[in-house]
Amino acid sequence: MFVALNKNGSYFSLLEERSLDELREMRSSQTFFCPICRQTVSLKLGEKKSYHFSHVKGSDCLANFEAESDYHLKGKKQLYEWVKSSGNEVKVEAYMKEIHQRPDLLMRNKNGQLIAIEFQCSQISMDTFMKRNESYRNASITPIWILGGNWLKQTSEHTLKLTPFQWMFSHHSSRQRDPSIYYFCPRKRKISIVHSPIPFNSSNVFASIIHSTTQHITINQVIQNQFSPLMRKDFGEVWLNQRSKWRMNFSMYPQKKHKRLLTALYEHSIFPSLLPVEAGIPTTSSYWFHSPPTIWQMWILLDSILPNVNQTISFQHVFQRVKERVKKKQIEIRKLPLLTETHYSFAIMEYLHVLCKLLILKKVNKTTFKIISSITIPRNEEEAMKHDYSLLEKLNE
Ligand SMILES: [Zn+2]
Repeated sequence: MFVALNKNGSYFSLLEERSLDELREMRSSQTFFCPICRQTVSLKLGEKKSYHFSHVKGSDCLANFEAESDYHLKGKKQLYEWVKSSGNEVKVEAYMKEIHQRPDLLMRNKNGQLIAIEFQCSQISMDTFMKRNESYRNASITPIWILGGNWLKQTSEHTLKLTPFQWMFSHHSSRQRDPSIYYFCPRKRKISIVHSPIPFNSSNVFASIIHSTTQHITINQVIQNQFSPLMRKDFGEVWLNQRSKWRMNFSMYPQKKHKRLLTALYEHSIFPSLLPVEAGIPTTSSYWFHSPPTIWQMWILLDSILPNVNQTISFQHVFQRVKERVKKKQIEIRKLPLLTETHYSFAIMEYLHVLCKLLILKKVNKTTFKIISSITIPRNEEEAMKHDYSLLEKLNE
C-alpha cells in the first residue's frame, strides 16, 4: 500500500514526489501505522518493487488480504496519475470506515458522482466480489473494476478467451447495453477494452477489442463506454470456421453435461453434427448464457418451437421452459453481478426476434409469436455448412 499514518495521525502518501534520501531519512526517524488496523507498517524502499508500506507477515488486516505484487502497485500508481490528469478529484487507498472498504482509487467526477476504481490482478471469489459491489452501491458509489492486463488472452483481431472470472467483470453504462470488460497493463501503460462480447462457446468469444494508452484515452471516456459494437461482418469468417470445427467435435467428443440434450436430439432423429442453423446464432445478448449459444438455442427449438409449428406461443412459455432447463443445469446462466439493468430473459427475447427475421416466427404482438415455418435439419455436413453461410448473409441484410 502507498498510504500510512504517521505518529501525529496524519496521512502520508508515497505517491507524492519525494527523493529516496528523504524517504530513507523518514524511515529511520519515524514510525508509520496502517490506517485501517493501526498496526505499525514498514516502509519498503527496495529496487524491485515500487516503494510501499507493508504489514508484518501474517497480519490479518483487511489491507493485507491481497498480497500486492509490483504489477499491482505500479498499476495502481499509474492509474492514480491517469485519473488525476483528466481533472478528476481522486484519492488513493481511501478507507471508508462506514462500509469497511478501501478501494484502490476513489474518484469524484465532474458531476459529483463517486466512483470506486479497483485494479484487480489476483483472483477473488464471486462472493467477495458481490459483497464489495453491494457495499459500494449501498453507499451510492459506482464500482469500476479494471483487470490486470495479464488476464487478457486475445487470440486474433476480434477473438479472445474469457474465463468465468473475467466475465464477472462485465460493466455497462446506462447509455449502452452492450457490456465491456476493462484491462490495464502497467508495463505498457496500455488500456484495453473488450466491448460487446459475443460468445461462441463457454470460453471462446468474439468482441470488439480496443487498445489504447493512458495518454490517448481518459478514464471518463472509458466509463462513458461509448464504443462501437462488434459487427457480424467483423467476425463472420472466423465464426464459420469455428462452427464447422464445432459441428465435428460436438458429435465426436460429447460432454457429459450435454447427455440429456444428445438424448433429446436422438429422439428427434437429429444428428449432433447436423444441428439446424437456428441453433447457435451469434446474438448480441447471448453473453447471458454460460452454455454455448448452440446448446441453449437448441433447447428452445426442441422445447418450444418444434412441437408447436403453426401454433402461437408466448414469450412467457419459452422463458418458462428455459427456466426449467436452468433449474436442471442443462442450460447454465452466466453470473454477471455488475449488469443490473438487464437479465437473461433479454437474450431469449432477442433470439425470438432473430427467428422472426429468419421467417420461422411471426410476431403477433409484443409477447406473442406464431410459428410459421418449421426448422430445416441439414441432410449432410456440406448442406449444414451452406446453411451456416447463408445465415450470416440473412442476418446482415
Ligand atoms: Zn492494517
